[in-house]
Amino acid sequence: MLDLAIIGGGPAGLSAGLYATRGGLKNVVMFEKGMPGGQITSSSEMENYPGVSEVKSGFDFMMPWQEQCFRFGLKHEMKEVLRVKKIGEHFSIIFSDGSEEQAKAVIVATGGSPKRSGVKGEDTFWGKGVSSCATCDGFFYKDKEVAVLGGGDTAVEESIYLAKICSKVTLIHRRDAFRASPITLERAKNEPKIEFLTPYGIDEICGDDSGVTGLKLKNLQDGSAKEINIAGIFVLIGYNVNNSVFMQEDGTPLCEINEYGQAVVNLKMETNIPGLFAAGDLRKDASKQVVCAAADGATAALGAIEYIEHHK
Ligand code: FAD
Ligand code: NAP
Repeated sequence: MLDLAIIGGGPAGLSAGLYATRGGLKNVVMFEKGMPGGQITSSSEMENYPGVSEVKSGFDFMMPWQEQCFRFGLKHEMKEVLRVKKIGEHFSIIFSDGSEEQAKAVIVATGGSPKRSGVKGEDTFWGKGVSSCATCDGFFYKDKEVAVLGGGDTAVEESIYLAKICSKVTLIHRRDAFRASPITLERAKNEPKIEFLTPYGIDEICGDDSGVTGLKLKNLQDGSAKEINIAGIFVLIGYNVNNSVFMQEDGTPLCEINEYGQAVVNLKMETNIPGLFAAGDLRKDASKQVVCAAADGATAALGAIEYIEHHK
């Protein structure tokens, strides 16, 4: 029986592993289906982690994290978790290959991923002008013109954020009506640096060796074409939360999940199931930043140590 199973090896899972092993738990395994590191390993530049002044690729940034964890005794098994079940006082971790493992406590840190639009040029220029995170990449476009795709709260809120940094933000949405809350929309409409283009779709994201240079757009009402020059485009059309490990055979989740598919936790990263913690991008109200995910992982591990102590 494991003391603690950690599911997911991104910043949240690795930090949980560091704090759990360094905090005295002996038998801790992190189940990560791929290489540890998480989403950030797909980023070419990472410059907003406090205390790390050097700009690094996400991959280089995450490399020392696993070395540090393994030094304190964290074990990594490259396995995909299918589901977590509660059996009496303990948890059963069921893997995609059909095998099973028991644990006293579980931290789920399976993260998520931003949705992609599938527009021509999106994959080619992903990370070279196409981004899904204004907080992460907005600063790279200081005093430059950018565009945002989407009509939800994220797209509109991030347009307001980008307008504080960039010289102009063109907000492109496929309908005239927005999903974003009226008050947020009103704030965006009062921001002189934001231009609304609706109902418009993107035909192609264009660029060259330097990255994105512009967009070919289509008016979805009259079919007319339009081209704009921009240095960056933020695709903010929703987010997939990796919550499938909570789902039981009968389709119900093991713990409380909100309407966005995120795990509902308290400030200790505890779910409503004793001994089950959720940390990082998959939890409710996550800020979706490496530093925040790492802090969640540490908090969850401290909670797990306390839980195991009290259930000896
Ligand atoms: P993740 O990083 O998503 O890690 C989850 C891990 O769980 C993954 O490794 C996945 O393989 C694994 N997993 C999922 N399901 C299973 C399963 N069933 N079984 C086993 N393993 C599983 N943040 C910043 O702070 N600064 C930035 O500059 C920045 N730039 C970014 C650029 C890009 C392109 C992207 C995509 C994100 C960026 N972010 C940035 C956001 C940051 O990467 C995330 O907030 C952070 O990685 C979340 O960490 P996490 O541990 O919660 O989840
Ligand atoms: P969302 O509400 O699902 O909105 C996604 C937007 O992207 C929609 O406007 C949608 O258009 C558009 N879209 C989807 N696929 C597209 C595609 N392939 N091409 C072009 N456009 C596409 O997602 P979100 O904005 O990330 O928000 C997710 C949830 O979090 C929402 O419930 C939101 O209210 C909540 N949230 C809340 C806050 C807050 O309260 N402060 C902040 C952020 C997010 P259509 O409208 O035409 O479908």
